[in-house]
Amino acid sequence: MKYQLLIGGELVDGDRTLDVIDPATAQVFERCACASERDLDRAIEAAHAAFPAWASTSLEARQQVLLKMADAMDARGAEVQRLLTQEQGKPLGDSAMEVGGVSYLLRHYASLDIPVRVIEDSETRRVELHRKPLGVVAAIVPWNYPVFMAAMKFAAALLAGNTVVLKPAPTTPLSSLLMGMIFKDVVPAGVFNVIVDRNDLGARLTSHPLVRKVSFTGSTGTGMKVMASAAPTLKRLTLELGGNDAGIVLDDCDPRLVAQRVFDAAFANNGQLCVALKRLYVHESLYDAVCDELVRIAGAAKVGPGLEADTRLGPVQNRDQYEKVLALIEETRGVGKIIAGGDRPAGAGYFINPTIVRDIREGARLVDEEQFGPVVPVIRYSDLDEVIERANATGFGLGNSVWSSNPERAAAVAARLESGTVWINQHGDTGPTIPFAGAKLSGMGAEYAEEGLAELTQIKVVNRAKQAAI
Ligand code: NAD
Repeated sequence: MKYQLLIGGELVDGDRTLDVIDPATAQVFERCACASERDLDRAIEAAHAAFPAWASTSLEARQQVLLKMADAMDARGAEVQRLLTQEQGKPLGDSAMEVGGVSYLLRHYASLDIPVRVIEDSETRRVELHRKPLGVVAAIVPWNYPVFMAAMKFAAALLAGNTVVLKPAPTTPLSSLLMGMIFKDVVPAGVFNVIVDRNDLGARLTSHPLVRKVSFTGSTGTGMKVMASAAPTLKRLTLELGGNDAGIVLDDCDPRLVAQRVFDAAFANNGQLCVALKRLYVHESLYDAVCDELVRIAGAAKVGPGLEADTRLGPVQNRDQYEKVLALIEETRGVGKIIAGGDRPAGAGYFINPTIVRDIREGARLVDEEQFGPVVPVIRYSDLDEVIERANATGFGLGNSVWSSNPERAAAVAARLESGTVWINQHGDTGPTIPFAGAKLSGMGAEYAEEGLAELTQIKVVNRAKQAAI
């Protein structure tokens, strides 16, 4: 298979190539096309040229294109799943869920309307709020959910009448390039473009005068760079950034039940999830029991290549992240107690056994920073007011969760947590009907739902005077 860029409806080689590593073997397993600055400019210009015609098609026509994209994706779903596992590392079952999510999102957006809202219809005037597409949308995604995150952006952007230049992370380019091939003959030329870089074209893409909107998901540091680079042309921005989600377990939980759920929330996608549970606060009365149970669950989770049927946790996605997580684990040896994992299985590949650290507090990097990998700190608390303060004492504000058998107590704690989402007795549940937005340094704007779709449009008010005879 030749993995090429999609520019202006054509599959092209690009001026450079990029080696792609399978994180389960740490070996190069594929090579793909990589864009130069010239290729990037051509992709943006193609998207710009395609915009007027696409923007003026009817909503129904765009909905039909989205439905065809969903069918095309389903027809080649198995191929994308396997490729995603190879380049990203996640188990095949997780890849199947992620890839299935693309056609699900496309069909969801294909069912939406973008209605004109009548603000006032009085004797003197009729005021209507229309939502117009913006133009070229740069969709920039990270390596943890390369397929699904891309779809979150392009499905909504295309429905709204924008054209798209999609840029995946350089360690997971293949699934996006394959989607480009799959959609090539389904979407009008230039409406959907895919480019790949070596982490070096982001600034050009986010500063290019023909790009009108940047929908970015990634780290907070890069998000800040995007904001600066978009400023001179006043691009619209949606930034979905990092998090350090806390989970607070109240003293009325069953340790066995809660441990299984928090383990699943912390180790989803091997901890490489923006809304993974990243700091677990447990009341002192349950602390030992929850820690023991987490150790048992971690010990039973099979770590291995995503292509092997019984794998629960695959490798960390790339070498940089792998080394970062290993260094964080090393550091905890002096400030906490590793009670599960802390080591790596024998053999090649970026594998780390699921790691649980107890008797650790704020001040340790594992607690204060976003680990984004298979290690979670379990922190003891005794006073509820104090733990809420500790959970809020972070620059991040993506999500938090409260765990309790008493709905009123849980709701009272949830009301005091500072984040875009607070979950009760679960962590990480999202969906296209629910706006997803980070507070504080976790982002700006929203994706999903009416709020997210609105950010892909420009408000246009039409205000007609009724009484004036002309
Ligand atoms: P990253 O910020 O390093 O990279 C994200 C994307 O930005 C990649 O495509 C990268 O090539 C591109 N990029 C790099 N430099 C750029 C620049 N100067 N301008 C524009 N784009 C540039 O993030 P990552 O390491 O790939 O992903 C992990 C981070 O993403 C974590 O912090 C995680 O919490 C966050 N994340 C957030 C969400 C969310 O919805 N809030 C979801 C998933 C991941």
